[in-house]
Amino acid sequence: MDFYRQVFLRKVSENMRKKDESPLFEAVSEYYEKNTSDAQNYFSRYEAIKERITFYKNKVMSDLPNYLIDFELRISSAGAKVIYAEDAAHAAEEVKSIIGDSSKVFISRSDILDELNLYRALKGKGVKLSRIGVGEFPYSILSETTQKLLRRLSGELNMEEMPNDTETVISVYKRKLLNEMFSDSIAITGADFLVSDSGSVVMVENDGVRNMLSSFCRKQIVLAGIDSLIPSFNELEYFTSMLSAHAYGCPHAWNQLIINGPRKTGEIDGPEELYVVLVDNGRTGILKKAFQRSVLNCIHCQACTALCPVFKYVNAFDGTPLVGPLNCITDPIKNGFQESGFLSFACTLCGKCSQICPSGINFQELILYNRKESVENDAVFSIRRKQMKILKRMLLKQKSLHSAYNRFVLKFDFKKDFGQQKEFPDFSQKSFRMLWLERHKETEG
Ligand code: SF4
Ligand code: SF4
Repeated sequence: MDFYRQVFLRKVSENMRKKDESPLFEAVSEYYEKNTSDAQNYFSRYEAIKERITFYKNKVMSDLPNYLIDFELRISSAGAKVIYAEDAAHAAEEVKSIIGDSSKVFISRSDILDELNLYRALKGKGVKLSRIGVGEFPYSILSETTQKLLRRLSGELNMEEMPNDTETVISVYKRKLLNEMFSDSIAITGADFLVSDSGSVVMVENDGVRNMLSSFCRKQIVLAGIDSLIPSFNELEYFTSMLSAHAYGCPHAWNQLIINGPRKTGEIDGPEELYVVLVDNGRTGILKKAFQRSVLNCIHCQACTALCPVFKYVNAFDGTPLVGPLNCITDPIKNGFQESGFLSFACTLCGKCSQICPSGINFQELILYNRKESVENDAVFSIRRKQMKILKRMLLKQKSLHSAYNRFVLKFDFKKDFGQQKEFPDFSQKSFRMLWLERHKETEG
């Protein structure tokens, strides 16, 4: 556990230092702050839509196997192949076996692909990948600065000199990509929603990358968490509009793609072969938790990560998968409380994430359940538990709390928890009881 905790703390402190050098940190927060406050004005009954999302997600989660079977039957009968992947390694293996020896493989950026670290996993298996799009969310821009992006793109184009003009590079790059996509190519994308009663794969985006890949590549591999499922096509609009509003700042993102299977005879675009990889990766474990399972209602708008006062400084710059309020709940359950339980304690319980979440997830409550489990699983640091026991003993006895030695020990033990920015408060010389007795004596006298 300590190793991950150390990495986490190092990342926070490094990024806190970088934050002063880059206005982008605050720009990302401002972007999401504006989106989430505007979102309430786009819908005349915002709270009612939130409730509907929660209701439909709970409905799916309470009968997930049947909804998954319905989805699979429908999309398979349209000609797609559905594969179940237990975890990230399994998903990478399945994707690799579909790719085979193909050398024209395009991968977009998406939440689920980041979660699985699929780009790195496939690179590790020797797959030559073109990662296209700078990403749909401002975090991707943070992790890939303009200079870095230009260097990468001009490198891939074999340009001898790196031009300073972003537009030239990007337009040459797009032309090159389109030419390559028209030949025998494979697209790897994530999906935002899967619709059970219509067997549809839905993607919502502004940059149009997944739309382009789905239109022009011969094979498409779509990855989706099993929690992306929604019950029926009739409710799809609630989900797409809430996602668009929170993630892109408009109630209808520019590209909303619905795929019901591979290309049919007579259709002019779309993949000839479609594979849908349904990813578990710890989700069934979360589903078993009576309280924490509501975290699977998330529609992945990333607003909570961008606005959390703790986690907004954890992400960015190095392009590793995002960590946010969701991970405070999911990671300890997926990886074990011993390894990732500390994430539940990183939260300050400020409530910002619950306030802005379009899926109505009550984070503070879920985080407290996780903390309780951490303690029950003995995953809280043993030193901290000993400290708490000593503190409890001291606080329960007036006499011991007044001892100068005890006060010194308390201050010494807890001072570092206050950090360098705050002063540890001095103990009052007199307890409430002492003051009360004094006043009582004075009145009697
Ligand atoms: S409640 Fe915790 S996880 Fe949520 S925004 Fe506040 S600090 Fe972040
Ligand atoms: S938990 Fe809520 S705010 Fe956070 S990404 Fe999911 S839907 Fe968005």
